[in-house]
Amino acid sequence: MGDIAFIGLGHMGGPMLRNLLKAGHAVRAFDRVPEALDAATAAGARAASSPADAARDAEMVVTMLPAGRHVRSVYLEDGGVIGAAPPGALLIDCSTVDVTTARVVAERAQARGLDMVDAPVSGGVAGAEAGTLTFMVGGPDDAFERARPVLTAMGKTIVHAGGAGTGQAAKICNNMLLGISMIGTAEAFMLGKRLGLDPQKLFEISSKASGQCWSMTSYCPVPGPVPQAPSNRDYQPGFAAAMMLKDLKLAQEAAAGCDAATPLGAAAEALYSLFCNAGHGGLDFSGIIRLIDGRA
Ligand code: NAD
Repeated sequence: MGDIAFIGLGHMGGPMLRNLLKAGHAVRAFDRVPEALDAATAAGARAASSPADAARDAEMVVTMLPAGRHVRSVYLEDGGVIGAAPPGALLIDCSTVDVTTARVVAERAQARGLDMVDAPVSGGVAGAEAGTLTFMVGGPDDAFERARPVLTAMGKTIVHAGGAGTGQAAKICNNMLLGISMIGTAEAFMLGKRLGLDPQKLFEISSKASGQCWSMTSYCPVPGPVPQAPSNRDYQPGFAAAMMLKDLKLAQEAAAGCDAATPLGAAAEALYSLFCNAGHGGLDFSGIIRLIDGRA
């Protein structure tokens, strides 16, 4: 097995890198935050001094960065991955970024004879630690097949979504639906409560009826019906509202770029903006029920 370069060692990247090490890969790591790099070397990675230094001799490069501008910087700038990676290297960007950035970076990689896939994840920090992430992968068939064994060391479900950028498209479509369904679930439970309906009774009925959805059955925003849901621990995440807002903004940006009408996605973005601006971005996204209930 050749060396893997891993860049971006935060909440997600740190545990993902540890799972690569556990699977027996040799990893050269870089993060601009020294403490993150120290934690990676303590786990058994070798430290690199820059993205280019990490990528120089790598067979594969994995990145887990905050947003599109970080991805453009790490891949495209002088001293970046695309200029430094050896011919034939495979680049795997697991960050959640805009579809345009994913496609631009993939084109630049291809122009230099490098394979690239976008491979955003769902499953959060718990999934990263347990190695049970879901990867949504966009890129050519052969690049996907090369990436699959490495992704399997960090995740459980690996889905090939299509060509470059479709991994990011799948991620934002899914999360837009999730944000909308959570707001709908919160509205239904708030209305039921005001009509004198016990939330547990509404859950018993609706979770078996046509209104059922994941936001209700696995992540119910009212405490009680789903014991493991964040609503039972004062909305500690889980999946933070600020992360949901990031994904809803990406969905709106993408919709504007391809003339897709997404009025409920727009409303969800506005509601999560209000919730985060009120200082609740660190709460789980199901905490939006406090805004719907008029208590945020
Ligand atoms: P994070 O902020 O904890 O980690 C990002 C890391 O990237 C940081 O350590 C930062 O120092 C590093 N970084 C930034 N710019 C860099 C550069 N130029 N060179 C080297 N390192 C650089 O973020 P996270 O929570 O780990 O999330 C990473 C990505 O995963 C994001 O795109 C996020 O949307 C996505 N995601 C996160 C979660 C979650 O629950 N945290 C879930 C699914 C997807």
